[in-house]
Amino acid sequence: MLTSIAGRSVIVTGGSRGIGRGIARVFAAKGAQVLVVGRDLAQAEATAGAIRAEGGAASGFAADVGDPGDVDRMAAAALERHGGLDILCANAGVFPAARLMEMTLEQWNEVLSTNLAGAFLCVRACAPALARGGRGRIVLTSSITGPITGYPGWSHYAASKAGQLGFMRTAALELTPLGITINAVLPGNVRTEGLDALGDAYAAKMAASIPQGRLGTVEDIANAALFFASDEARYITGQTLVVDGGQVLPESLMALQEMGE
Ligand code: NAP
Repeated sequence: MLTSIAGRSVIVTGGSRGIGRGIARVFAAKGAQVLVVGRDLAQAEATAGAIRAEGGAASGFAADVGDPGDVDRMAAAALERHGGLDILCANAGVFPAARLMEMTLEQWNEVLSTNLAGAFLCVRACAPALARGGRGRIVLTSSITGPITGYPGWSHYAASKAGQLGFMRTAALELTPLGITINAVLPGNVRTEGLDALGDAYAAKMAASIPQGRLGTVEDIANAALFFASDEARYITGQTLVVDGGQVLPESLMALQEMGE
């Protein structure tokens, strides 16, 4: 099962840290060649170097996913370094909190331009190269926040993550004739540098609201991305997969309490 990734050329945006680094490591461990992308080149290269030290094939590249010129250069770099492009994991994202009534347009635009416009720009830049191989795969990292749930302070983030899914459903139709599938993984709360920045109290409260009793690992998300990227998932497009330890299921706090009784 899922032996089809070896030798494939992969771009992972936001691959230098957190979930993206998990995706890059898991894909490289399966034999893929990975372009690790972030704005900070040193960090992207450090992650790529760590993957090479584990026996994988990876290199770093600096790009801001909100910049059309950067993402065009990113796609060209994958073509040049790997001789083609098979898989785009559009994962880069930011989640700075701001309450709606105090939120500035600049704060709104920063989140939407990275998370939503960034996904669009990466897909547009990579689609021609993905089409050439005839079996292109795009995996978006969306979230439960927005598509399914809400959380105070993240109305801009929630809009960006729900927006990714609307974008994906029409993109799926336009990309099908090119032999490309596009799907989204919806993580719950995953232990990453980005989440750690929200503080231990946040992580502990979140863990208590998850039926499986723990935050997700980056590998939990990477394995779902790996499935969407595989040959075996060729008949799946425009779909979502929630990976959250059951977090969205409890009807109320009482439901969680009754689990243990
Ligand atoms: P993280 O630890 O903060 O890492 C974010 C990554 O994205 C870094 O590699 C960062 O590198 C890169 N990045 C940020 N802005 C970028 C930009 N404009 N252009 C290129 N790269 C950029 O975040 P994470 O927790 O792993 O989250 C990754 C994705 O998962 C995001 O889309 C997030 O919304 C989603 N997600 C996370 C969770 C969670 O619990 N952690 C839950 C649901 C969804 P640079 O700073 O060097 O650019």
